[in-house]
Amino acid sequence: MDKIEISGIRRIFDLVQGMSDAADFSLGQPDFAPPERVQKAAIEAIQGGKNKYTVTQGIPALVEHLRAYLARTAGLRKDGGIIITAGSAGALFLTLGVLLEEGEEVIVPDPYFVLYKHLVHFFGGTAVMLDTYPDFRIKPEKLEALITPRTRAILFNNPVNPTGVAYTREEVAAIADVARRRGVQLISDEIYEAFSFDFPHECALKHDPDAILIGGFSKKFGVTGWRLGFAAGPRDIMDKMAMLQQFTFVCAPSPAQVAAITALDEDMSSVIAGYRRKRDLVVEGLKDRFEIVAPQGAFYVFPKCPWGDDDSFVRAAIESRCLVVPGGACSERKTHFRISYAQPESELRRGIEILNKIARR
Ligand code: PMP
Repeated sequence: MDKIEISGIRRIFDLVQGMSDAADFSLGQPDFAPPERVQKAAIEAIQGGKNKYTVTQGIPALVEHLRAYLARTAGLRKDGGIIITAGSAGALFLTLGVLLEEGEEVIVPDPYFVLYKHLVHFFGGTAVMLDTYPDFRIKPEKLEALITPRTRAILFNNPVNPTGVAYTREEVAAIADVARRRGVQLISDEIYEAFSFDFPHECALKHDPDAILIGGFSKKFGVTGWRLGFAAGPRDIMDKMAMLQQFTFVCAPSPAQVAAITALDEDMSSVIAGYRRKRDLVVEGLKDRFEIVAPQGAFYVFPKCPWGDDDSFVRAAIESRCLVVPGGACSERKTHFRISYAQPESELRRGIEILNKIARR
C-alpha cells in the first residue's frame, strides 16, 4: 500500500461534493441514462429472483452472447476464454494479479489511465513509462526499445483515457507485432471502443490472438455503477483469473449480468453521434487559447496548461467553478489537464467560457 497513492481524480471528485454550481469536467462517466430496455431487463431480473451469486466466470447466457459478439466484432477465436468481471477495473485487477511476479515490468504508455500504474505496483511489478508526448501516440520503435528480459506485459489502451487518441488499424497492427515478436503479453483495454469518432475501432485481438482484451459495459450503456466488465483471451489465463475472482469479487453483480444480454443488442449510434458533437464543440471552443492534440475517441480532451503547472492551473479553474483534472494524476508530466466532456452541451459551453477566461492571465 505504501507504493500507491490516492487518485488525483478522486480528490477532485471529493471536492465536487460541496460544489453544485460548478461546470463539472472531472469524472469520466456518461451523462445519458441506460436504454429503457436495459433498465427494464435489470428490474425484471431483480423481481424475477436473479439476486444470488452466479457462477464465477459469469452466467452462461451472457458469456455465450458475448462470445458471439466478440467473434463478430473483435475476432475472438473459438478456443478463446471469457470471464465476466466487476467492471473492467475488476478485469484489470485480475489480469495483473494473475500475470505479475515480483519485480516484473509492465510497459505503460504515458499519459495513462490512473489505475494502471498503481495496480502494477500493488502486485509487486514495476510500471515502465513509455512517454508519448507531444502527440500522445505510441511509436513501435520506442515501445520495442523499452522491452527487457523482465518485461511481462504492455498495457495498451485504445481509445485512450485521458488523451482521446484512437489508434488506426495500421498502428494497432504495428503495436501487436512488437508484442508478438518479442513474446510480451499484450493487454488491450478497449472500454471506449464504441466511442471512436473518425474511423472504425480496431480490436487488438485481430492482430495478436494471444492478447487479453479488457472491455466493459459502463461507458457504452451509461451503467458505471453497475460494475460490469469482462476480459477475453487465452483460456489458461482466463481460468486463472476465474480462480482469483472466486477469492476476491466472487462474481459480477447478478441482475447486471442478466441485463447486459439485452444491452449487447442495443443500437447506441445516436448517443455516440451526440458524443462526437460534444467532442467537436469542446475542441472548437478551446482551440484558439489552448494547445490541443485532436482527440478521435473516448470522451476526453487533454490540453496543455496555458500557464503554470497542472496544479496551479487546475486550482484556478476550480476557483472559477470549472472542475478539471490535473494531468499529473494520469502522467509523469505536470503540463496538461484533462477535460471529460461527458456532460450536457449547456454545461460544456459554460465550462468552455470559464476556461477561455482563465487562459489569459
Ligand atoms: N479503463 C479505462 C481506460 C477507463 O477509463 C475506465 C473508467 N474510467 C476503466 C477502465 C474502468 O471502467 P469500469 O470499471 O467502470 O468498467
